Amino acid sequence: MPLLGSVPERLAANHYDVDEEESHIEVDQDAARRTQAGPLLERVCAARVYTSQPDGSVLVQAAACLECGTCLAVAPPGVLRWHYPRGGFGIAFREG
Ligand code: SF4
Repeated sequence: MPLLGSVPERLAANHYDVDEEESHIEVDQDAARRTQAGPLLERVCAARVYTSQPDGSVLVQAAACLECGTCLAVAPPGVLRWHYPRGGFGIAFREG
C-alpha cells in the first residue's frame, strides 16, 4: 500500500487561483470586537486564515481558504460575509 504522506504535504499539492479583485471572506470588525469572535475563528480554521488581534479585530488571509464553511457555521451572526469564490477562482483539491 503506498504511503499517503502527511496532511500538510497533501494539502501543499492543492492548487489555488486567488481572486485578487474580490475576497470571498469579509469580517465586520465592529461585530468581531463586540462578540470577541477572533479566537473562535482562529481555533476552527484548519487553514489558519484568521488571526485575532489584541484590539478584537481579525486579520484575514482568504487566499489559504479550503472552502470548508466551518467558520461561517460557528461565527456569531453578523461577523462574517462569506461566499464561494467567483467562478474559476479558489482551491482545486489534488491530494488534500
Ligand atoms: S471556510 Fe474553512 S478553511 Fe476557509 S476560512 Fe472558513 S474555516 Fe477556514
